[in-house]
Amino acid sequence: MSQKNVNACPKCLSDTYVRAKKILIGKSSPGRLFPDFKERAGYKRKDQLAVDECKQDAVGDPPLEQFVDGCYCENCGIGFVPDSYLLTSVVQKT
Ligand SMILES: [Zn+2]
Repeated sequence: MSQKNVNACPKCLSDTYVRAKKILIGKSSPGRLFPDFKERAGYKRKDQLAVDECKQDAVGDPPLEQFVDGCYCENCGIGFVPDSYLLTSVVQKT
């Protein structure tokens, strides 16, 4: 049975060193705070991911809604959130 690995590290593209970790994300995306804000096309803004860009069931209950069950790659030292947690509109924007 082959299963697409959605938790692979975006940098080394491997899940060998990836473990689950709570990731702190932004309270609100810039586009929400500033209606005139235009993001650069094709710019993947994962490090500044905001609560309103994630699926409802991916984020915690208030006041912990900024913590999501993300992943951390011990090889690269970076934390990331699986695409499956993101709203479809956010994923397609990138
Ligand atoms: Zn990695």
